[in-house]
Amino acid sequence: MRHIAVIGSGPAGYYTAEACQKAFGDQARIDIIDRLPVPYGLIRSGVAPDHQSIKAVSRRYEATALSDTVRFVGNVTVGEHVSTGELLQLYDAVVLATGAPADKPLGIPGDALSGVHGSAAFVGWYNGHPDFAGLAPRLDGADAVIVGAGNVALDVARILAKSADEFHGSDIVGHALEALGGHAIRRITILARRGPHHIAMTPKELGELGCLARATPRVDADDLPPIEADAELDPGQRKAVAHLREFAAPHESAPDAIAIDFDFFASPVRIEGDGRCERVVVERTRLDADGSVVATGDTYAIPADLVISCIGYRTPPIPGVPYDAKLGRFANEDGRIAPGLYAVGWARRGPTGTIGTNRPDGFLIAEHIAADLPDAGTKQGRTGLDALLTERGVEIVTFRDWQGIDQAEIANARAGSPREKFTRIEAMLAARKAVT
Ligand SMILES: Cc1cc2nc3c(=O)[nH]c(=O)nc-3n(C[C@H](O)[C@H](O)[C@H](O)COP(=O)(O)OP(=O)(O)OC[C@H]3O[C@@H](n4cnc5c(N)ncnc54)[C@H](O)[C@@H]3O)c2cc1C
Repeated sequence: MRHIAVIGSGPAGYYTAEACQKAFGDQARIDIIDRLPVPYGLIRSGVAPDHQSIKAVSRRYEATALSDTVRFVGNVTVGEHVSTGELLQLYDAVVLATGAPADKPLGIPGDALSGVHGSAAFVGWYNGHPDFAGLAPRLDGADAVIVGAGNVALDVARILAKSADEFHGSDIVGHALEALGGHAIRRITILARRGPHHIAMTPKELGELGCLARATPRVDADDLPPIEADAELDPGQRKAVAHLREFAAPHESAPDAIAIDFDFFASPVRIEGDGRCERVVVERTRLDADGSVVATGDTYAIPADLVISCIGYRTPPIPGVPYDAKLGRFANEDGRIAPGLYAVGWARRGPTGTIGTNRPDGFLIAEHIAADLPDAGTKQGRTGLDALLTERGVEIVTFRDWQGIDQAEIANARAGSPREKFTRIEAMLAARKAVT
């Protein structure tokens, strides 16, 4: 028997469990350990609440979770309740799939002012992550500034711009729906350091921005390169830029519409305000011949009552695990950290790619484990973990428990929503009940 512990129940964790199951069949026991009582990582707490079809991928993981050889062990934080050293004593292989849940700091003066949030916090707030449910962002000002040129920036802009009716069918949590319903935002500015040809935004998400009931996306036509240059782009980028060209065309919008302004070649240099953010000072950039961003020295200020930075994430270190502070993730070579210790997903590669990008990671690590551990292991596995956690008074949440929480969330849904999420750990634990 090979005993494998996977730390993290997001996509990378489940794809790893699936791959190990395929590789070793009933000759492996796989424990998927998560710090939360609920599984699925960013599928639950990152993917936008109005993108339910994407969240549905988690149904696929259920088959893995419910198989005899795999077990979900929720409510257990590695590095706190149990160390990686202890897990390495108990399991033949330990795979870190802990993602990259910490915001990369903006790193400019004023970035700690009230009203400035990272996207992990803001997205976690509207998605009901227990760490951020109490965020209470200030939404009483007219101007919001979003820093970043990727899909997370678009998610945040769309969520801020939608009317209450447009959240029908979403699982946005009640506290966020209520707060957003009463916000005063009239203008959302998206700051991008480079130009329209360099965005990491995808056509679907840009297209959605053009279909909002009360918001008008706007691009300055002067920022767009000549249309002939679009031929050099790959098809996806070309479609994305086509949306930007639509946003640059003159169009009428209702006087009370929320403007979503794309400000290209713009880099924030500081945030100013008396106790809370009031404006962002931005520097115009240009691109060098080699494509690198050059500051021009021209600065201007834009009003900002709320600033959300969507510039990337870091993996928090875990005591005893080699860490690459520069890259903000575990130090690894092709997923190998140390004998018996591996990393997958965002904890291995950094915060890029879609849910599916994490799948090959799982298969890679299963191959590594097969090569590094050709014969059955000698460790105790889950029996040893259970004994340790019981001794420490740590209450485990099983997959059956999660199914109870899931059913309670579905039962609590407001009209037109698939669920009302619990946003506090205690409420999640209280909602557990046996599922028959
Ligand atoms: C805002 C946002 C929107 C996104 N939207 C999309 C989208 O629409 N479509 C798409 O394809 N991709 C989307 N992505 C990307 C996708 O979510 C990621 O590719 C994927 O979730 C990364 O998987 P992961 O398993 O590495 O990390 P995660 O999904 O973050 O999972 C990590 C898990 O580890 C657990 N954990 C962390 N530390 C510990 C610890 N010490 N002990 C125990 N458990 C721990 C966490 O609780 C979590 O469950 C989005 C990402 C973000 C941030």
